[in-house]
Amino acid sequence: MRLGESAGKTDPGRVRRRNEDAFVVDPPLFAVADGMGGAQAGEVASRLAAAAFREFREADELGPEERVQAIIKEANRRIYERARTDSEVSGMGTTVTAALLTDGRVVIGHVGDSRAYRIRDGRLEQLTEDHSLVADLMRSGRLTPEEAEGHPQRSVITRALGTDPDVDVDTLVIEAQAGDLFLLCSDGLSTMVSDADVLRTVERADTLDAAARDLVRAANTGGGEDNVTVVLFRLETDEAVEETLVAPVPGAEATETEQESDLEDTLTGLPPVSAAAAATTTAEPAIVAEPTAAPEPLPEPAAEEPRRRRPPRWRKRILWAALGLGFVALILGAALYGLSRAYFVGADEDGRVTVYQGIPFDLSDGVGLYRERYVSRLQSSQLAAGERGGLFDHELLSYDQARARVATYEAEAVP
Ligand code: CA
Repeated sequence: MRLGESAGKTDPGRVRRRNEDAFVVDPPLFAVADGMGGAQAGEVASRLAAAAFREFREADELGPEERVQAIIKEANRRIYERARTDSEVSGMGTTVTAALLTDGRVVIGHVGDSRAYRIRDGRLEQLTEDHSLVADLMRSGRLTPEEAEGHPQRSVITRALGTDPDVDVDTLVIEAQAGDLFLLCSDGLSTMVSDADVLRTVERADTLDAAARDLVRAANTGGGEDNVTVVLFRLETDEAVEETLVAPVPGAEATETEQESDLEDTLTGLPPVSAAAAATTTAEPAIVAEPTAAPEPLPEPAAEEPRRRRPPRWRKRILWAALGLGFVALILGAALYGLSRAYFVGADEDGRVTVYQGIPFDLSDGVGLYRERYVSRLQSSQLAAGERGGLFDHELLSYDQARARVATYEAEAVP
């Protein structure tokens, strides 16, 4: 048995401007990290974790479980040390869920609420147990799964990298077989997409790259309230005739580059999308124009009238060009109109309820047509799922309407 396809993708989602997630596809190691902390701290934490996976070679000689433990503990030390000595990122932390493929086994190590799943024989099985408040409450029988889903504190994790000098790492050893597919993801996927839809999406895709892209898209369709990251890999038999090892996934190196570019966080100044970002993330085709508005091609001359002149080609081309330009102008006009007139409610990178001016669309990764106008002290996690659904419906409002809508919930939740 050996590694077959693998893939990784990350996307900021539809509500947050920053992407605080990071991932590693560096066979036989795979990982997802979901950072948290104000300003850029979450990004720093998750990238430090990802870097530890690529750099910490001292662990290479250890047994598989010890190796995973050692890398995650090293990541914890690096983040803790940085948070302790750099006031700009104090208090930062990150989850990590990692997988190491060894002889017939997959060793999973994790801290926090990023998850690992295995898909086998058409069934999706969650391998990790979240280190989160609601998971604790569920385990002790004080919350039902239904209650947990809408619980206001459902994003509160009980264990993270970077908050203490040492960290408890859960590891589990999974006996694997050919055909098994492993999925690592941040909670931006698991809270937005049901298990059944995750399974359906993966099984429908032709390749793992396509599956990763479709999962990100499903999370965005489901609300995209959080950064979403997925890593997938499949095991196959040694006898498979296709080419041996997986081609290195661009995401393995690209993650960092991409996130460097994300640090250029200029909302209105449309930051350049790096080639790496384009390669590893799925740009939601929010306003991508399909040329469906174009008319049918002009009729071809009938066979029995061979002498009739065809319309000159250039005329067709000009028609197409004009239609294309018109469409672009229309979209830009709508966008500018939206920017000047419209407001909507979302959450910023720290989860605070925020009134944005503009329209809730990202042209491509990280390029949003909106900017912050009011940031509430209200955390989106303080709202029940139903309330979030109502508040973050992305309806375009006037500024006063948007403020009034937020104020209703502020009055309830903020003392
Ligand atoms: Ca998250």
